[in-house]
Amino acid sequence: MKRAGIALDLGTSGFRGQTIDLSTNQVIATVITVRHPLPGANVIDHLNFAIEAGKDVAHNIIIAAINQVIDLLLKAEKIKVERLAVCGNPIQLSLFENIEIRDLAYAGEKKQQQLGLVPPDRGSKEYRGECFPLLQVPPDCLILIPPAVKHEIGADALALLVLSGILEQDKISLATDYGTNAEMALKVKDRIITGSCAAGPALEGQHISRGMLAAPGAIADLLPEDGGHRCMILNEDMIPMEGDLVQLDNGAVLAGGILRARGITGTGVIAVVSRGLETGLVKLPQINTASTYLNLADEIRFGEDDLQEAGKAMGAIRAGYITLAGEAGISTDDIEVAFMAGASGTYVDARKALKVGTVPPKVKEIFQVGNTSLILARMLVQEPEKLVFLENKARKLQASHCMFANSKVFERAYLLEISYWTEGMPWEQYEKFAAMYRLPHLSLPRENVQVTKKVMRDISDLGPGGMKSIEKVGIEGRWIMEGCSGCGRCIEECPEEALLIDAENGITMRMDRCSGTACRRCEHVCSEKVFHLSEFWRKVGA
Ligand code: SF4
Ligand code: SF4
Repeated sequence: MKRAGIALDLGTSGFRGQTIDLSTNQVIATVITVRHPLPGANVIDHLNFAIEAGKDVAHNIIIAAINQVIDLLLKAEKIKVERLAVCGNPIQLSLFENIEIRDLAYAGEKKQQQLGLVPPDRGSKEYRGECFPLLQVPPDCLILIPPAVKHEIGADALALLVLSGILEQDKISLATDYGTNAEMALKVKDRIITGSCAAGPALEGQHISRGMLAAPGAIADLLPEDGGHRCMILNEDMIPMEGDLVQLDNGAVLAGGILRARGITGTGVIAVVSRGLETGLVKLPQINTASTYLNLADEIRFGEDDLQEAGKAMGAIRAGYITLAGEAGISTDDIEVAFMAGASGTYVDARKALKVGTVPPKVKEIFQVGNTSLILARMLVQEPEKLVFLENKARKLQASHCMFANSKVFERAYLLEISYWTEGMPWEQYEKFAAMYRLPHLSLPRENVQVTKKVMRDISDLGPGGMKSIEKVGIEGRWIMEGCSGCGRCIEECPEEALLIDAENGITMRMDRCSGTACRRCEHVCSEKVFHLSEFWRKVGA
């Protein structure tokens, strides 16, 4: 029987897993989930869900999704899983471990004391498979969890710091893991300031009408060519290949491509906005075409609602590094080097990212470094003794965390960003208000930047088994609510098509599709007032 380990990255928008052959240390295969199994679109939604439905329910759902990943990775082959390493942000890891999470919701010490909350140990951990009865690994499987740097600076941020190359830089540098929750670290001499910015899901291709995660069939870039734009589409190996050459304003196909598009991912969104601004087809906050859409390959259209969603995400990231610069007492123009991690940070055309402001404007060098969280998990599977090294590193790092939620600078910068992206505030006015608020100076982006792509894909090595994806993630549950008339209003109202009703008035919910506590439309429209979301979640997730 083959001996293998599994590396897992529990991301906010989905999970990524790889099997590693322990006799050769080579990757065997890769599996991703196309969405997160818990209701909600970001870490705050996941946290609220876990508090409302109960952390046991959230834990069960996460383990069910991990079991799907493990099943597909092993494909019924005779493989003994001897090690499992799991990396992610503090909320995902705490839910995996099924430890206290409420301290992550209430940041102030006073509030925590009032509630009698004791933050749990989030240092490095070693478990055995038997500690996780629902997890499909052998009882003696070694389970490794990397440490957080501090309460708010999780293992994913440690991965970004240790693996991006920022710690070796002497110049003022910013490392960003682009995603639904953008983790950021600014290094000024020996000082590191981190922040975590709820950018929203648009940069992962979600909440965009034809959006999708970075997966085969996704439009990942847009290149000007012969009077039109060539849509670049990810193939089965996650390499961008030519799709149709189209005219953005009227959708005319000027030349066919090799691949067909299924949707657009976050990097494609940045490319569309960047090219739209450059060509004048986007005049914020509007799309300046007869149809008010930008037309891409295979009838995929990008509309003004998509532009707003994208603007909010890009604006949040810019507000994030403005805030870190303010915290460090520097101008954003002083940031010379940028490290871009995560799928969005890897596939994006870095110059387009610079143009739309998701990279500080005056950086001279950009490094695109891949999915550091998964790389860290893989490293631990291959060399479990590195856990001690990571624990020492985490303890020694002189890092402080800036809570954007409590930052006046972030609040003001984000307000300006929203006005710029969604209301069309002119740049001159933005600058005037930024100066009035004493925000760190923000210039227009430089043109000549040096870009080094350290990896071709966010997951650099997929293994000979290639990459497979799971579309239906985690669990779906059915429950007959007492007093339900079967009117179907909740089903019609659900914006995510997460609900189904059957002949016995049994309602089935796809947890991975549900928007969670931020939505609740099904509950509000229930004609008989019998739909109680938290009760539903508790029943079906127990
Ligand atoms: S309507 Fe209900 S089931 Fe549908 S997304 Fe909203 S909360 Fe979830
Ligand atoms: S809206 Fe209420 S009564 Fe109508 S089907 Fe849904 S749960 Fe039942």
